[in-house]
Amino acid sequence: MSESLARRLIDAWADQVDAGFILGDPAAPIETRLIPDPASGVTFRFRWLPHRDLRTDTAALERKGILNPDRDESALYRDPRDPSGRHCFLCPSNIRMCHPLEELIPIRAASRAWFAGANFAWLAQNHFTVIAEDHVDQSFDSSVVETMLDLHKQTGGEFRIVYNGAYAGATIPWHLHFHISTDPFPVESLDAGRVHSYPLPIRVFAASSALDEEVTDYVKGWEERDPEHHRVNMLVAERDEGPAAYVFLRDTRVIIARNKGLMGGWEVAGDFAYDDRRHDFEAADISAVRAAFADIVPPDARS
Ligand SMILES: [Zn+2]
Repeated sequence: MSESLARRLIDAWADQVDAGFILGDPAAPIETRLIPDPASGVTFRFRWLPHRDLRTDTAALERKGILNPDRDESALYRDPRDPSGRHCFLCPSNIRMCHPLEELIPIRAASRAWFAGANFAWLAQNHFTVIAEDHVDQSFDSSVVETMLDLHKQTGGEFRIVYNGAYAGATIPWHLHFHISTDPFPVESLDAGRVHSYPLPIRVFAASSALDEEVTDYVKGWEERDPEHHRVNMLVAERDEGPAAYVFLRDTRVIIARNKGLMGGWEVAGDFAYDDRRHDFEAADISAVRAAFADIVPPDARS
């Protein structure tokens, strides 16, 4: 049972590649620059993923059959708070209308219904977005941590589970979702004794029976200090034969790095993906990493 969700997802990913739903070739070598950080001991990673440049190119996506050219725009649900007026990219009914090639895999986790859909503009191998069946806000409560731990457990620890707080990496803050994939993140190698040397405020919670309460209390404490601005990014990943939670403190006022753009869960975990800004990709070094993180340290966490 515990391994079966991982197998289902990995098989579905391969099927979606075969069906032509996945941009680029996930099996091809990725141009990568590895940046060891002597202070934290973490090796940061810059990757060149040019296929992602197509994700907003409607004509190209239609040509490839990834986006249905005959979709009925008037039937698509739009959140009235979205200033761009776009339809919600994460509502299952919208996905079925817009992306007929996309396989939506039903999942139960933490007593809620979800669907996993392969991310055609993938950032990692086996990259799925796990979306709530219902159109509900991306806001933090105890069920967020419970869901992350449940997804981790159901995939036998093979998948990494990422949560981005609303307006702090999540670009669709009105539909609850997670990102999951099988690629290890650089931060997973962070030694417990060097957490204070990581270039962004981070707490690492080791596996324990009270992990969900500990993480929930910590995140609530941070968000309640300034509910308007304080958010987190979180990663749940296997560490020492159990799930560990990595919590990154965020502030909605500082989410852009001048040499990267929007900093979300991938970047704070040490993985910088580029599909344009070739100059910034080529300028990858430890000072670039530190500069990117320095731009997003929350004002209330600066020492
Ligand atoms: Zn939605």
